[in-house]
Amino acid sequence: MVGGTRLPRWRRRNTTPQALAARGAIANSFWHRVARALWVGAMLTQESGVLIDRISGDLKQLAEIGRADDGGVYRMAFSEADMRGKDWLEQRMREAGLETSRDGACNVIGRLPGRNSEAPMLLIGSHIDTVPCAGILDGTLGVLTGLECLRVLKENGREPNCDIELIAFSDEEGRFGGMFGSQALAGQITPDTIHSAADPAGERLEDVMKGLGLDPWEALQARRDPKTIGGYLELHIEQGPVLSRNEEQVGVVEAITGLFKWSITFSGEPNHAGTTPMMMRRDAFMGVADFAHEVPRILDENGSELSRATIGRVELTPGSPNTVPGEATFTIDIRDTDETVMNELAGAIRKALSAIARRRGLRFQYQVESWIKPVTCDARLVECVEAAAGEGGFRYRKMESGAAHDAQIIASVCPVAMIFVPSVEGKSHSPAEWTAWDDIEAGAQVMLGAIERLGFGPA
Ligand SMILES: [Zn+2]
Repeated sequence: MVGGTRLPRWRRRNTTPQALAARGAIANSFWHRVARALWVGAMLTQESGVLIDRISGDLKQLAEIGRADDGGVYRMAFSEADMRGKDWLEQRMREAGLETSRDGACNVIGRLPGRNSEAPMLLIGSHIDTVPCAGILDGTLGVLTGLECLRVLKENGREPNCDIELIAFSDEEGRFGGMFGSQALAGQITPDTIHSAADPAGERLEDVMKGLGLDPWEALQARRDPKTIGGYLELHIEQGPVLSRNEEQVGVVEAITGLFKWSITFSGEPNHAGTTPMMMRRDAFMGVADFAHEVPRILDENGSELSRATIGRVELTPGSPNTVPGEATFTIDIRDTDETVMNELAGAIRKALSAIARRRGLRFQYQVESWIKPVTCDARLVECVEAAAGEGGFRYRKMESGAAHDAQIIASVCPVAMIFVPSVEGKSHSPAEWTAWDDIEAGAQVMLGAIERLGFGPA
């Protein structure tokens, strides 16, 4: 060898002042990192888990993506803001040391590899898309607390038995119908779903996805083999007042309500508001009014204590103040945790519509917009969540979810369970949506405890 003895690479030192200074900086930052890791480690052993400051930091950062002057967040599915949110999330996942990817439905995925990649994985997650003028929590909280849980496990050098995947599902909130990402994963998307889905402004999902450089047909490839997923856990805000009123921190969800939505049209005859005598009218709106009054009776006779019915939208045609409405189209949203009850309610609604149409000289037709089956959470997963809540010493209750969630769709693939945190005054889908930091921390801690029970048991 020319020029003397060759030293091992680590001993070949450059001793210029610049190099020494640079090494000093590296050493400093190295020891700084070690010290910080030890400190975080100590904190974690002491507090056994999640750091609320990191969760709140992430929440605040993501809240700025799609935030408007009215204080609301506008991150509707596949909007420019939603896509920026996905990019941000993927970056944060990478920084947490997770392996990131997107599937054909543009679901964002961060994976913590386990000892046995063949074992059915544990899936956790929710969604980061929002309704227009949303608050900053909703599904976003589930995704970001999930991120914190995996970050903590990674930092502690914990290797799970199976892979753990964090997933943020596309279009849960329904710009294009809702639950698009979870339905794709569950194999419930058909070419027709993709072709016919459009937002309220008439923009087609197919066009919007293509405009973003995505191939909408790839969503058909997002389907997972049920054998590859052992369970799904989702943390979400309650979106109702039960936990908050009872001053409880965590809800252990045992069942998720089913729901169906119909679009109903009464057709009569548009006529002059002054010249058409009351007895000679076929007023479509009066059909809606009669039906609205029948709703409480229908629920009393055919529903359960958990039944809910809402007429959320009414549109009158021609919609002019001095014309008798010739057509009234309205929606009804019915919920219950028992599918038999849902069927009975559907039958009773049909009868009431038919009787009203006869009485008022109207015709009616309805279209089933959706039928989502109620879901019973898996007993073993619920037990793990409850044990984690008990161990943390949190005030919790077992309860149902009155809102639909991705978990409901994923239940067709694997066992599921959900963790709720309180919504202050039950407010949701509004900038007023809030959960106390303590309760967010409690929920995240319960999620971590449940993950440890499910992903780290004896192999
Ligand atoms: Zn949600």
